[in-house]
Order: sequence, then C-alpha cells, then structure tokens
Amino acid sequence: MHTQNLVFADVQQKDLYPLWQALAGIGLATPNIGLLTDVICCPGLDFCSLSNASSIAVAEEIFERFENLDDQHDIGEMKLNMSGCMNGCGHHSVGHIGILGVDKKGEEWYQITLGGSSSNDASLGDRTGPSVSRADIANAVQNLIETYLDVRMSEDESFLACYRRVGMPPFKTRLYAKVEAEA
Ligand code: SF4
Repeated sequence: MHTQNLVFADVQQKDLYPLWQALAGIGLATPNIGLLTDVICCPGLDFCSLSNASSIAVAEEIFERFENLDDQHDIGEMKLNMSGCMNGCGHHSVGHIGILGVDKKGEEWYQITLGGSSSNDASLGDRTGPSVSRADIANAVQNLIETYLDVRMSEDESFLACYRRVGMPPFKTRLYAKVEAEA
C-alpha cells in the first residue's frame, strides 16, 4: 500500500489470532494506524543514492519520542510524511506534517510543511520557513505537536483541522523559538 502498511487480504478466521500472535512476536502488530508513528518514509540516505538527507533515522527518533500509544491516541489522526529529496517518494507535500531532506553545503537539513492532505479535501502543505538541522528535526516535530495540543479547540479537532483553523502563526512562532532555544 502507498501508506506503507501491509494488508493480509485472505486470512481464514481461525488463523487470525495465531497470525496476530506471530506478528506481535516480531514487532509488526502495533495498533498505530493513522497515528503519529504510522509514518510514510522513503529510504533516504541509507539506501537511495539520490538522497540529500536521512529519513529512516529521523523516523526512528520520532518513534522513540512518541512510542506511548496513549499519547499517540491523544494526539489523534496524523499523517507524517518524509522524503529524502525533492523527488518526494515519501509524499511529504501531502503530509499533515511534511519533512523534506535538503542538502546545505554537504550537511543534512530539513524543510517542514504543514497542512498537506491526500484525502478528498486535498491540499499541499505550506512551508514553515527556514529548514532545520539534523540535530533539531525531532525537536521541531515535538514542538509542532505541543503547539497543536495547546491550541486545538477540543480533543475532537484533528491536527489538520486545527491547522486550517488557526493557520501557520502559532506553529511557526513556537517552532523557531524553541528550535533556537534548544540549539
Ligand atoms: S524521495 Fe529522493 S531520497 Fe527518497 S527514495 Fe525518492 S529519490 Fe530517493
């Protein structure tokens, strides 16, 4: 699937539980579909010669920060998409949060976009501003999530709906203020 999940399309009912047990044993039964750690991520610098920057390592850093499933459910529906270069194999421009790896004088930097969607209400994400460094990208995602949790109207307002209501300013202000403070 383009969302990088795996569908077993023809499993007999009697085999469902053993299959789930087997998958759980190898770490493939995490119930995080549609949540923050259900990232779409291209191979990036580790496996693609066209890449400007790592993407798998960044995704792993984000997984570690948000591995608590209760926290992920509190954050709610989220599409985090990451590409290692402008070819956009990770569909970053339609992520609620999109991350694009860019090369600056041989160093890994990341451009962030907000508000993208590939659903019926399709939209391209808006750039937040200057790219952030490899050291700051996980902090940047955390800052964006914290901003959303602070400004959402209620738990029922998704990140995308919240962004469309309040726009870029609160996200941008906090993102760059905190990235600079943490640098
Ligand atoms: S987006 Fe770029 S780095 Fe990622 S897989 Fe595609 S070509 Fe490679």
